[in-house]
Amino acid sequence: MPIGTFEVKQKSSECAARSGKLVTAHGSITTPVFMPVGTQATVKTVSSEELRLVGSQIILSNAYHLYLRPGMEIMEAAGGLHKFMSWDKPILTDSGGFQIFSLATLRRINSEGVEFRSHIDGSKHFFTPEKAVEVQRKIGSDIMMCFDECTPYPCTHDYADRSMKLSLEWALRCKKAFMEGSPLYGHEQLLFAIVQGSVFRDLRRESAERTVEIDFPGYAIGGLSVGEPKEEILSALDVVTPLLPESKPRYAMGIGMPEDLWECVERGVDMFDCVMPTRNGRNGQAFTSRGKVNIKNAEYLRDFGPLDPECGCPTCKGYSRAYLNHLFRAQEILVLRLLTLHNLYFMIKLADTIRTSIESDSFLKAKKEFLNKYGV
Ligand SMILES: [Zn+2]
Repeated sequence: MPIGTFEVKQKSSECAARSGKLVTAHGSITTPVFMPVGTQATVKTVSSEELRLVGSQIILSNAYHLYLRPGMEIMEAAGGLHKFMSWDKPILTDSGGFQIFSLATLRRINSEGVEFRSHIDGSKHFFTPEKAVEVQRKIGSDIMMCFDECTPYPCTHDYADRSMKLSLEWALRCKKAFMEGSPLYGHEQLLFAIVQGSVFRDLRRESAERTVEIDFPGYAIGGLSVGEPKEEILSALDVVTPLLPESKPRYAMGIGMPEDLWECVERGVDMFDCVMPTRNGRNGQAFTSRGKVNIKNAEYLRDFGPLDPECGCPTCKGYSRAYLNHLFRAQEILVLRLLTLHNLYFMIKLADTIRTSIESDSFLKAKKEFLNKYGV
């Protein structure tokens, strides 16, 4: 099947949940899929071999971070990100829009692009939609994202309106730059667009409709998880996903926690990324089938059972809660890797469980069972 093909395999008879398959130059991805976040060309603490071991189908990296460090000269000399980090499966890159608006300082935005200072050394840079495409060509990601303004929350309707229209204009320019350019490393790349509009239903609707008119092989819902209440996230998805084409993958950016995956899939979302499994893991928090576990707690000092008896990950197969608790207290870095591996495995298996439940048309029942046990 041609690269970029998205095949819906099974649709739920009870809600908008669906399972599918997306074809990329580095292999097919079955959906719903959870994408581990490897911002700086590494999913923190774990190697590419370990990512394969926990079943990761695709990872996410970031154009802003890689552009600043190591820089595109080194990226090109390495032959692209796949070779650089020894990862031969699909990679999706965020365009840098979100990071420029959340990390960089002294931003000056005009219709042309954004001037900003690096959060690393204060150096001055100018990003445009064309530049974001060029950077992602040099990275060689399988899925590139359009450059957009990630609308802050809260903001006025007027601001969100202008911001959404700017992102639309930039999406057009990204597509033009994408069509006029070509891949650098011999494999085809895809360009996905991002729907904005903050918490305003009319703006979300307009953004979705006009972005779809430009026509992309996949659509993300952006500007979510930026501080707004969870109901606002779900309500934005309720507005947007029915307006997106059935035959294209949908990606909820920056989402989610285990419970969020169910809510989003129910509304027709196929792809997710979130730093929580890895970041929380490094802080001692594990997701388990019976809810969150904080391994630092004294109750685990003498608990010689596995982190999650229902989990088949390398951590749960080999190590006890007592051992993980000890490593954390002794500040041994091994614990960061063991908890990260477990949390990644948990999220990846959760996406598998969700997919299986769609394929046996028992999504809502499986959702209820999971949430009851997980304790949300
Ligand atoms: Zn585990």
